[in-house]
Amino acid sequence: MEIVKDVVCPFCGTLCDDIICYVENNHIVGTKNACRIGHSKFTHRDGAVRYTEPLMRENKKDDFKKVDWDTAIEKTAEILVNAKRPILYGFSATECHAHAYGMKLAEMVGGVVSNTAEVCHGPSVWALQDVGYPICTLGEVKNRADVVIYWGCNPMHAHPRHMGRYGVFARGFFRERGRSDRTLIVVDPRKTDTAKLADIHLQVEQHKDYELISAMRAVLKDFELQVDKVAGIPVELIYEAVDILKNAQFGILFFGMGVTQSKSKHRNIDNAIQLVVDLNAYTKFSLIPMRGHYNVNGFNQVCTWVSGFPLCVDYSRGYPRFNPGDTSVTDLLIRKEADAMLNIASDPGAHFPNKAVEGMAEIPLIAIEPHRTPTTELANIILPPAIAGVECEGTAYRMDGVPIELKKVIEPPEGVLSDREIMKKIIRKVKELL
Ligand code: SF4
Repeated sequence: MEIVKDVVCPFCGTLCDDIICYVENNHIVGTKNACRIGHSKFTHRDGAVRYTEPLMRENKKDDFKKVDWDTAIEKTAEILVNAKRPILYGFSATECHAHAYGMKLAEMVGGVVSNTAEVCHGPSVWALQDVGYPICTLGEVKNRADVVIYWGCNPMHAHPRHMGRYGVFARGFFRERGRSDRTLIVVDPRKTDTAKLADIHLQVEQHKDYELISAMRAVLKDFELQVDKVAGIPVELIYEAVDILKNAQFGILFFGMGVTQSKSKHRNIDNAIQLVVDLNAYTKFSLIPMRGHYNVNGFNQVCTWVSGFPLCVDYSRGYPRFNPGDTSVTDLLIRKEADAMLNIASDPGAHFPNKAVEGMAEIPLIAIEPHRTPTTELANIILPPAIAGVECEGTAYRMDGVPIELKKVIEPPEGVLSDREIMKKIIRKVKELL
């Protein structure tokens, strides 16, 4: 049995880089250090359908037929070139070179290109464009943080090793005792498994985070709250929490979907960013968004270098334009403006709002996807790639913006290409057709 060390987990934004994989006959038969989610990504599940050849069908009601790569790539290129408003979406579960080729392809076909941040931390991006981004790295949190807030996120379920590696339990340079050196505050309407570990659980009423943040900012600036409760929380508890934040040596605010996808969306985040800015008048405080997919951040980086904008980039006029709400893929689908879609490394069929999925069902859809998913059920063409971080290498960006090199652990199934190779082939064909 071969043992491969220092493998990077291609699942969540924690991007753990200490995984050990046990390999037998080109199969990963076991892992060490990975959480249950990471482990299941590395090991093949019995019964899971893995595509190893391109599949095509004219009509979405027909069965798929196996085709060769040349035919599938040619048809893909034709669809994209002939479309008036093509959209290219996904990208968050693949590596940065595939992103760069995706940007190039979008520019060539005059399409709109975007990633899963649209339905995730997009609102955080709109907020930081307004009011700034006082971020730090996870290493700083591990070594320095004595006050840790998880706001609207549940790392025990969604980023399982986050608290152990960085946020709470890790022993750091200035925090030698780990958990006992830190105060943990969790803000969530539910008593989640993360909240059960907190020193203070602020059980905010759903959709009332904006009020709570505003109250905390008021208390911080010595205003008196003239009510008994704000957002369902007794004001004494708010005073207590603000006192802890103010007296932190190094504080960190992690935040997730509970604030980006509830009412007020990006306004929750710009208020939270301003709370962090206000706190810096008294102490050192930072924030980090709990980015979801392991390389959702990477796409926003690449997209920004290439186009100047992080997502929702529209090349229909030949130059990049950015106007989320108008140039977002979800909105284009809901308004039935998009007339062809290429999806890569995400599963919008499972995770988009119903109206957007209806839009996907009505247009030609190409899915670059290794497994059978609700998206492939709606596809006309399936192009099966090697799995980045398992079967091919590349670069990914952790939630705090630190780039980490992904490893290739095993060979992909025979004949299967990496995402970037598939993108390159499509680009070559599109060039011929234009
Ligand atoms: S916490 Fe995230 S990156 Fe780390 S092993 Fe689990 S799924 Fe992978």
